[in-house]
Amino acid sequence: MSAAANTQNLDHYWMPFTANRQFKKAPRILESAQGMYYRDADGNQILDGAAGLWCVNAGHGRPEITQAVARQLERLDYSPAFQMGHTGAFEFAERLAAIAPGGAKAQLDRLFFTNSGSEAVDTALKIALAYQRAIGQGTRTRLIGRERGYHGVGFGGISVGGLVNNRRMFPLLPGAEHLRHTHDPSRNLFSHGLPEHGAELADDLERLVALHGAETIAAVIVEPVAGSTGVLLPPKGYLERLQTIAKKHGILLIFDEVITGFGRLGTPFAVDYFGVVPDLVTAAKGLTNGAIPMGAVFVSRAVHDALMQGPPDQIEFFHGYTYSGHPAACAAGLATLDIYKQENLLTRGAKLAPEWEALMHGLKGQPHVADVRTLGLVAGIELSPRPGAPGARGYETYLKCFHDGLLIRVTGDIIALSPPLILEKDHMEIMAAKLANAFRQIA
Ligand code: PLP
Repeated sequence: MSAAANTQNLDHYWMPFTANRQFKKAPRILESAQGMYYRDADGNQILDGAAGLWCVNAGHGRPEITQAVARQLERLDYSPAFQMGHTGAFEFAERLAAIAPGGAKAQLDRLFFTNSGSEAVDTALKIALAYQRAIGQGTRTRLIGRERGYHGVGFGGISVGGLVNNRRMFPLLPGAEHLRHTHDPSRNLFSHGLPEHGAELADDLERLVALHGAETIAAVIVEPVAGSTGVLLPPKGYLERLQTIAKKHGILLIFDEVITGFGRLGTPFAVDYFGVVPDLVTAAKGLTNGAIPMGAVFVSRAVHDALMQGPPDQIEFFHGYTYSGHPAACAAGLATLDIYKQENLLTRGAKLAPEWEALMHGLKGQPHVADVRTLGLVAGIELSPRPGAPGARGYETYLKCFHDGLLIRVTGDIIALSPPLILEKDHMEIMAAKLANAFRQIA
């Protein structure tokens, strides 16, 4: 345990998604961060292989963001979010509209601000339901997600999500259904780029239409690349097919781009990478470089305009947060967009991807490595589970890497890497070497 943590009372903070008792016996306390590195309470440097939690895309400690937030808080700390505005929120929405997923022709350029990815997801689901009602399709109340999907922790998000531990303790939205997930190791192991096989899994939406009737289904939500479940890439043609089927049946398509947004795949959004345009896109994380909590929903003009009906003096959509479009978050977001533009970070991943792919696939053959999947600057490395102890290898690898100065993310026995987009080749090499070292050392 670090000296600093030793003297601190850790009892009162109930940590999220954490084995609290285990953690508090041997805490990992971060003190500071700069560029590609964290520093822990003992002064150790830790290379950030996860951009924090998929969010610090422009690297840590950006003074431009710090200063923009400080200036904003001095000038206007808070502005009521309802029936009131401030220039920062409109400016940020306009700047986001200019880089919106799919470019100008996609018209995904109406923005609703939230404070997190979970809120962005629940907001998008509500917009979808409200839209269907507004166009006279009020019987469409079902929401469809996908097995192994992660859409945050709101009741909407866990209902369409597909991770059992997040769901089993809670009542869920009635009518939520799930497509089959797309992971098929029997056909797609160690595939370079997108998996060849599995586009037909999108036809599962036809199964749900046949089962329930299209007139009961409001929307389908998927992560274009599933992250939290352990980096599952969509099979070639899958997203296109899903979109075609959704459109045919009047079902809105929502892409949850909370992790893929803002350059992760080497394009501004996954929509741009795949060339598939949904009706709504959720974002968070890289939106403010993780510096201030914020989420957003990019809404198509068609959906937005359908809800701008009725007497103009009436609220069109009864939804919002005290901190929607918070001045500090907008200031952080605007400064973040400036950095992304100046340093071409939204497309930098495309240049680095071949090197990244080669280094990560180079881990094939190391002990326990059962699969490697990469796209843009994401990598998933699946370890074969230790017999009788699923997840143990993953967790031990995580600890080994951390104590060796590398931060990774693990879900069970799958390692996810999503480094800040400012990384250089030597950082990638260090990551690959430290991972190989960890794989050789764990049992
Ligand atoms: N959606 C996706 C795809 C995510 O990966 C996450 C978080 O990892 C969320 C939603 C939830 O975001 P937040 O933790 O900001 O609520």
